[in-house]
Amino acid sequence: MKCVKMAALHALAGLTLMIPLSGVAGDAQQGKSLRPVVESQQQQLPATVDAPVYQPPPRGAPGGRVGGSSRGLEDRLPRLSVLAPDHTGLTVQEQPFTAETPIGRVDMVNLIVRLPGKRTDKILFTGHYDTKLFREFQFVGASDGASSGAFLIELARVLKDAPHEFTYEIIWLDGEEAFCKSWTECGKPDSPDNTYGSRYYVQAAQKANAIQAIKAMILVDMIGDRDLGIRRDSNSTRWLTDIVWNTAASLKLSNYFLPAATTVEDDHLPFIAAGVPSLDIIDLDYDAWHTQRDTLDAVSARSLQVVGDVLLAALPQIEARVR
Ligand SMILES: [Zn+2]
Repeated sequence: MKCVKMAALHALAGLTLMIPLSGVAGDAQQGKSLRPVVESQQQQLPATVDAPVYQPPPRGAPGGRVGGSSRGLEDRLPRLSVLAPDHTGLTVQEQPFTAETPIGRVDMVNLIVRLPGKRTDKILFTGHYDTKLFREFQFVGASDGASSGAFLIELARVLKDAPHEFTYEIIWLDGEEAFCKSWTECGKPDSPDNTYGSRYYVQAAQKANAIQAIKAMILVDMIGDRDLGIRRDSNSTRWLTDIVWNTAASLKLSNYFLPAATTVEDDHLPFIAAGVPSLDIIDLDYDAWHTQRDTLDAVSARSLQVVGDVLLAALPQIEARVR
């Protein structure tokens, strides 16, 4: 059966083509315009990108959810690895795993782009690309899923040519969303029904004795809100939060990075539990959250630009702190 179920990736592709992050990653980035990238992507994207075909996932079959298991197997599908195409010189590594969820076993995939630096110590930039499973309506997830996915694609492009001391990993996490309606409804203390991808990544790093090499983790989530207002998350590492919010203030962007605080459970918690300094940049004050109104008209390229400008301007201070 063929049907269109790739609305979030449509949105993601649309956002990607709209949003350049500009001039904050050093002189090497100055003067880069969006146009060549758009043209290049248009050349690279397959002709069928306007009419993606949904393939039933190999296992779990949660139709309606976008995530690793719903990408299908055909190269002509607009997979993230296509949206971050070879012309950028980036290689997308897949980290597949099978999650035990309330609806059964679901195949998932974290996607990782590694930008080697002068040292092997890492700074991670993460966000989830899965969308929440809704069976009662088609959920797009323009901010909740697509905005972080699109942001990381553009971030990878901006960072890749800038000289950097630390190794950067850009990670599209699968399985952030709960399969049950609410975040905690079906979870148990030792097996939450959420953050499947981030928990798997951390476990794999711990098994490989590689967690110590992760010096900081920055998570973006739901940053597309047209009316962007990001509060400080009290679960995030304080010094990381301070650097980013102070940077926003210095850029006169405190009307987006608000002084008010909140407490958020998200993909940063497994990293925090593992001792990795971590920050969640999330705008949860979003009327369209988990509704069929989380569509392109509710999000803005400007919001992603603001987050990118602040994050890249803050990066030298973050690196100085963990050096
Ligand atoms: Zn969500």
